[in-house]
Amino acid sequence: MKTVWETYDDTRRKEMSVFSDEYRSFLNRTKTEREFVSEAVKLAEAEGFTNISESVGELNPGDRLYAINRNKNLCLFVIGEKPVRDGLNILGAHIDSPRLDLKQHPLFEKDGYALMDTHYYGGIKKYQWVTRPMALHGVVVKKDGTTVPICIGEDPDDPVVGVSDILIHLAAKQMEKKASEAVEGEKLDLIVGSIPVEDKDEKEPVKKYLLDLLKEKYDIEEDDFISAEIEVVPADPVRDFGIDRSMIMGYGHDDRICAYTSLRAIIDMKIPKRTSCCILTDKEEIGSDGATGMKSRWFESILVNLLDRTNEGTLNGLNTTLAKSKMLSSDVSAGVDPNYDAVFEKKNAAFLGRGICFNKYTGARGKGGCNDANPEFIAEVRRVMDEAGVVFQTGEIGAVDAGGGGTIAAILAELNMDVLDAGVPVLNMHAPSELASKADLYEAYRAYKAFLEKIS
Ligand code: MN
Ligand code: MN
Repeated sequence: MKTVWETYDDTRRKEMSVFSDEYRSFLNRTKTEREFVSEAVKLAEAEGFTNISESVGELNPGDRLYAINRNKNLCLFVIGEKPVRDGLNILGAHIDSPRLDLKQHPLFEKDGYALMDTHYYGGIKKYQWVTRPMALHGVVVKKDGTTVPICIGEDPDDPVVGVSDILIHLAAKQMEKKASEAVEGEKLDLIVGSIPVEDKDEKEPVKKYLLDLLKEKYDIEEDDFISAEIEVVPADPVRDFGIDRSMIMGYGHDDRICAYTSLRAIIDMKIPKRTSCCILTDKEEIGSDGATGMKSRWFESILVNLLDRTNEGTLNGLNTTLAKSKMLSSDVSAGVDPNYDAVFEKKNAAFLGRGICFNKYTGARGKGGCNDANPEFIAEVRRVMDEAGVVFQTGEIGAVDAGGGGTIAAILAELNMDVLDAGVPVLNMHAPSELASKADLYEAYRAYKAFLEKIS
């Protein structure tokens, strides 16, 4: 099977290289859901999208709109020539990634250090998250409602924080443990400081010093962490990977690589036949629950708003619209790892550099919990991809019963629409530094654009 590289001429290689640089820089600026939403809105507004809550009156083909939910979900639309009721072409990706979150009472002092307690978010191998430079990103919302943004560890002059691990010389007991127990969740405590205040009566002088610093710099008190959302993420910058620069290493390819390519696909499109939509959702890594997860009614309520504005009715209109809609669930897939190839069945596995990967199904233990896409829909997608010259492959997450996983595909399919998983294969999924091919990045963008423009 040919790789994407072999099909690219010089012009396309140049386009890919420009696109990859833009993605690398975007990924560096978007390590949380909130950051992704705000950067995405900047891109969209520059290309003529307006906030749905600020736009009034009837909608017309070519109108470009976006909607934001609680600063953590974004939906973009380009109104098509056909009625909305004839169905939408939807791209859906998630913009949350595995990480460590600060607890509500994070700060404590021990052995001369100020530490912060964390609770990990999403499925991680805990041993991968120690001894690394980490950054703190998020918001503290004070009792009076003011939001204090926090970002420590991204500027090259910023300090970083991190979780320690015991030196190998004293790790005899730890090295005997199973990998899942070698680093325990409750031991993922961040070291954040070591200077004490000069006060003999102060019982926790190092913690006090840190609290004084936070008060001075951010005007926040210890209790304000109760209403905060601080995410501890790898501080490393996104880098080109491989001596040939064919890949990109960075935090959060899952799923920002598919979110960014989906976002660019809708932003770069002209007036479509069918209304185009891009959903960027939160909470996928912990089950898509909550008001900002894909299971939230928010998406449906935005659709009702669109139907109202195009005079196409509400509830019946909504059901018809959903039934006629078609979607790619833009989420990363597992690429074959040359160091661990035994967990793949290679006829049905994705390889880096061979294009966007379509997964008919995901799930675990006999496809459990997945959307198993309909062949009639897959046939249409194949045809559109071939006509657009998109390089694609198909695959499963791994060999049967090697493990498994899920995406938001099944949640949208429950609304009675055709959905197919389609995304970029990655190595090191859910590790602090994930790996993806520039060729697959660009083919995903081309695939998503063809899907929005050509699926009927
Ligand atoms: Mn994902
Ligand atoms: Mn994931």
